[in-house]
Amino acid sequence: MSIIGKMQDWPLTVNKVIEHAKINYPRQRVVTRTVEGPIVETNYSEIHDRAKQVSNALKADGIQLEDRVATLAWNTARHMETWFGAMGIGSVLHTINPRLHPDQIAWIANDAEDKVLFVDLTFVPLLEAVKDKFETVKRFVIYCDAAHLPETTLENVVAYEDYIAGQSLDCTWGDFPETTACGLCYTSGTTGNPKGVLYSHRSNVLHTLMTGMTDALGISIHDRVLPVVPMFHANAWGLTFTCPAVGAEMILPGAKMDGESIYEMLDTYQVTTSAAVPTVWLMLLQHLEANDLKLPALDRVVIGGSAVPERILRTFQEKYGVEVGHAWGMTETSPLGTIGSLTPEQMKQDYEHQIASKLKQGRPPFGVEMKITDDDGNDLPRDGKTSGHLLVRGMAIVDTYYKGAGGDGGTVLDEDDWFDTGDVANIDDQGFMQITDRAKDVIKSGGEWISSIDIENFAVGHPKVANAAAIGIYHPKWDERPLLIIQLNEGETATKEDILKQLEGKIAKWWTPDDVAFVDAIPLGATGKINKLALRDMFKDYTLPTA
Ligand code: AMP
Repeated sequence: MSIIGKMQDWPLTVNKVIEHAKINYPRQRVVTRTVEGPIVETNYSEIHDRAKQVSNALKADGIQLEDRVATLAWNTARHMETWFGAMGIGSVLHTINPRLHPDQIAWIANDAEDKVLFVDLTFVPLLEAVKDKFETVKRFVIYCDAAHLPETTLENVVAYEDYIAGQSLDCTWGDFPETTACGLCYTSGTTGNPKGVLYSHRSNVLHTLMTGMTDALGISIHDRVLPVVPMFHANAWGLTFTCPAVGAEMILPGAKMDGESIYEMLDTYQVTTSAAVPTVWLMLLQHLEANDLKLPALDRVVIGGSAVPERILRTFQEKYGVEVGHAWGMTETSPLGTIGSLTPEQMKQDYEHQIASKLKQGRPPFGVEMKITDDDGNDLPRDGKTSGHLLVRGMAIVDTYYKGAGGDGGTVLDEDDWFDTGDVANIDDQGFMQITDRAKDVIKSGGEWISSIDIENFAVGHPKVANAAAIGIYHPKWDERPLLIIQLNEGETATKEDILKQLEGKIAKWWTPDDVAFVDAIPLGATGKINKLALRDMFKDYTLPTA
């Protein structure tokens, strides 16, 4: 006779998170700076109820289990309502990153087969520009009321408030297995088209429990949390679920993420914890310093997406008394992979050693396993020195991409279920991980990817260009900005402007390289591919004109 546990089968579906919040933290606030302007307050009870109305509106539109529902939106309460409303009925909430080129947005929406697209006022013009390219979207819902509905060339448009008005609060949620798909987020790698990471209800709930642990995001009902990190970038690091799960109040920044606007929200609502990429913190710190401001309520900031610069870490800790949690993760890891909460042994070390530890990306919470390997797949020692390919596996880590690996089928895991992150790292004997390099060559600007390959491909389209390579060069504000290195055909001459003109309209404006450098020969590696390591070395002392 087999013996199985005699405990309840309580499917891990994310609707339970907001149901728990409604019953137990009904009056905990969710504050939003709206795209229309005013700052408005709601609470978990109202978010739950309006999410039910979203569910019924979607059902009236024919949305069923596993259908994809997209959002192109900032962090706002309406966006949260849409998440829970879509996920509750088992449709898949697909967050689209508005910073992508409009052509890519249309490509992604078609690949996902999105049926309804919720969009902030900010992004309506962006959709209008490619409206004829959408093949599957049947309905555009604009986040506003009837009075703010803009003139638009989009068809089948409705104001969000009209869309949900009059819908019943009665709707069954979570009546499906916990392995049902829940969220979809595309990540743009180095090659090929963007790849969709398809989260399940189960993985999202487990990720919520993981991030809620004290040594992870460590937030509680006593916190007021400002997620600057967008819901369209790796699920706002899980905060859209973790905050309602623990009852923390949420302060949502909407479209404004400059230093002054973030300061206003932090100060007015006495925010205790916040999460963002280094670029955002740099802007905030500059604003604080220029205006001699303080943030006495702020206890802790989580910084990730790219490595934390030492200056940011020290300024937060030493000048403002704010603890920094340095986090690493990926869209593929839901995203939390590690966070730098110090261990008892590290706490006994002197301050300078602690700073050195905090500059590392940190240790995995329960639920994430990590290891490093050499090029042949052999495990490397956990000595804090040896670098290798960083591999992960765990309860909220990608198994295979939506529609297969890169859309082409096949698995992305090795035979022991390890996922290769594409990062290069070392790990010490307490699990502390440090990223030492990026196997990928994407350029990280303000926490967002710029694909070097895309830029190169368009640049070599210029008739005078023999070869092109884009590399990230340090930039004090954006962390990295692209430098385009060009090898011209023999005997040709060209200017920076000639080359940049070639890219116009083909890539998103903010992807445009900050400078163009001409070289006699672009170094190639053994297999004929551009040797980026050699290029980075050649340009290691290069200063961008925009820096
Ligand atoms: P994304 O999926 O867009 O969030 O990008 C994930 C990638 O960002 C990782 O594979 C790393 O290369 C990089 N990354 C994220 N967090 C950090 C960090 N704290 N330090 C260095 N690189 C990071």
